[in-house]
Amino acid sequence: MAGKCTVCEKDIVNTTYVPMDEWKIKGNLCSKCYSQKIEEHYPGKHIRTNRLENSE
Ligand SMILES: [Zn+2]
Repeated sequence: MAGKCTVCEKDIVNTTYVPMDEWKIKGNLCSKCYSQKIEEHYPGKHIRTNRLENSE
């Protein structure tokens, strides 16, 4: 059973992602919310999004 994403509360269809401890999130995340959180917490790290980046 995949369960629901704790952030967007949608059913997780593919991969279930486990949030980092430091995010203070209980439950699992869908890939979309996980990417979002990665970007929030670790801006500029290796995960790319479609957003334009003008810094640096
Ligand atoms: Zn989600």
